[in-house]
Amino acid sequence: MPEGDTVARQCRILDEALAGTVLTTCELRVPREATADLVGWRVAEVRPRGKHLLMRLVPPVAGPPPLTLHSHLMMDGIWHVDGRALRSSDTSSGPRLADTIRVDLTARHEDGRQARAVAYDVKQVRLLRTADEDELVGHLGPDLLDPAWDEDPALRDTAIANLAAEPQRPIGLAMLDQHVLSGIGNIYRSELCFLRRVHPAAPVAEAGDPAEFVDLAHRLLVLNRDREVRVTTGGMLGRDGDLWVYGRGGKQCRRCRSRIQRGELAEPRLEGTESRVLWFCPRCQAGPGCPPSAPTARGRRR
Ligand SMILES: [Zn+2]
Repeated sequence: MPEGDTVARQCRILDEALAGTVLTTCELRVPREATADLVGWRVAEVRPRGKHLLMRLVPPVAGPPPLTLHSHLMMDGIWHVDGRALRSSDTSSGPRLADTIRVDLTARHEDGRQARAVAYDVKQVRLLRTADEDELVGHLGPDLLDPAWDEDPALRDTAIANLAAEPQRPIGLAMLDQHVLSGIGNIYRSELCFLRRVHPAAPVAEAGDPAEFVDLAHRLLVLNRDREVRVTTGGMLGRDGDLWVYGRGGKQCRRCRSRIQRGELAEPRLEGTESRVLWFCPRCQAGPGCPPSAPTARGRRR
């Protein structure tokens, strides 16, 4: 599932391509919105909220309320702008089948230039009043990439309080819960736990200062927001040296040379049904809260 930085980047590129344009065609290939007619509507902006993509539209004439076209990349979703895939570390940017198109729109700039945006395999495509966006995204915890993050300390404070609210919950689950804070996916949870030298199954209460987790997560997402290839190692490790542990099962830890291990950590209340695989170093992450049965967290589903 894409991480928040991927969604933010795709939104920025879509916003640059579409903001201020008027839709000349717009097909929503999902049953509930198939009859929507948005020709003539103007794209006001495209904004991320956690991992949700919000395309805000204003009507051609006074009267109808502004609408938001909502979508979610989920596992395999990707947008193409003017025929070019918005590449990311999270999803394949290879050719997609036409029957996986869910949104297909063309738009015209004031100067007559055309733009086209096509979304393949995106999920949760729906139109709603912009004023009602909170019905879809109001449950989300603070967005680590919220543009107001630096000016509004309440965002950080709320994220920290949310993370600390369930002290016995494994840190590797709490940080993945978009109700707690939004933007972290499976890659960042493995990388953050490694960087903090904490086992993902360690309870929040034993995983160190929640504020340091939140600050590090924010920093990493900001650093990677505009990158095609995600890097958590500082980029000093050369080819294939972008990540510390994610996807590196059986390989040597870049710090201590122990074998990186693969485990699973999931719980039913987390959105998405995909396998919640994680990776960790049994030596670097053997601190407080590390389960006695380590080296593997496999089977610790709740
Ligand atoms: Zn290690």
